[in-house]
Amino acid sequence: MLERTVIVTGAGSARGIGRETCLRLATAGWTVAALDLDEGGARETAGLAAAVNGADAVGLACDVTSTEQVDAAVSAIERDLPPIAALVNNAGITAPTRFLDIEEDEWDRIFEVNVRGTYLVTRRVLPGLLERSNGRIVNLSSVSAVRGGGVFGGSHYSAAKAAVLGLTRALAREVGPRGITCNALAPGLIATDITGGKLTPERQAEMMADVPVRRAGTVGEVASMVVYLCSDDAGYVTGATLDINGGSHIH
Ligand code: NAD
Repeated sequence: MLERTVIVTGAGSARGIGRETCLRLATAGWTVAALDLDEGGARETAGLAAAVNGADAVGLACDVTSTEQVDAAVSAIERDLPPIAALVNNAGITAPTRFLDIEEDEWDRIFEVNVRGTYLVTRRVLPGLLERSNGRIVNLSSVSAVRGGGVFGGSHYSAAKAAVLGLTRALAREVGPRGITCNALAPGLIATDITGGKLTPERQAEMMADVPVRRAGTVGEVASMVVYLCSDDAGYVTGATLDINGGSHIH
């Protein structure tokens, strides 16, 4: 059994950033705990991660917006796996709705998963990291948060991912003295299924015309940055937002 565990939320989707992140972290020597709404997907990810490094990876059903489910999942991980040393808040949802068409329920759901979910899982995991004076937290934001949308998600998604950045920065300052780093990634369009078939080829071509490298990013390109942020070498990087957007936002 490898000696430290990383939790990755939203790690069940077959073509998603979360699954690839689990596989790359397994390659880097982490024991992987994959959480997702979709239990089957999470278990499949865990099986693939275990096959990479032979560690006892687990895949659990967990809705990150539920305090009870988050507590149950993290308690099981604390009981069964090596100490948790990193958390990747990757679970997220989006929708391409124009501002005046957003219903209150949709606004709330986007914030619930992206912001409240990040808060709830971090709140549950952080005490253990503080106890061991060691930890890495990586939050998935989006380039939408910093360039005024213009990617796929609507203004609610931009606002929620900007909230994730605010949380990342404030928490980095608060927990830095206790040996914990907290960083964010701001990806541009990455080829996954998050767009739920709602990204038309025309809209994608229009978006790519605005990207200097002229293509969508890959999950591997994002996952390898997460692996870096979780590594020992990244100990002097905190409160940072790492861009991975093909040059679509240069600042
Ligand atoms: P994805 O849809 O492939 O995967 C997201 C996963 O989160 C899914 O498996 C889904 O079941 C899970 N999930 C959704 N709600 C959940 C909940 N309440 N509790 C637990 N799990 C839940 O998406 P992806 O493209 O891999 O996105 C991963 C993260 O990266 C998200 O936070 C997303 O906002 C962010 N991101 C993606 C892109 C992109 O272009 N794909 C760009 C910028 C940021």
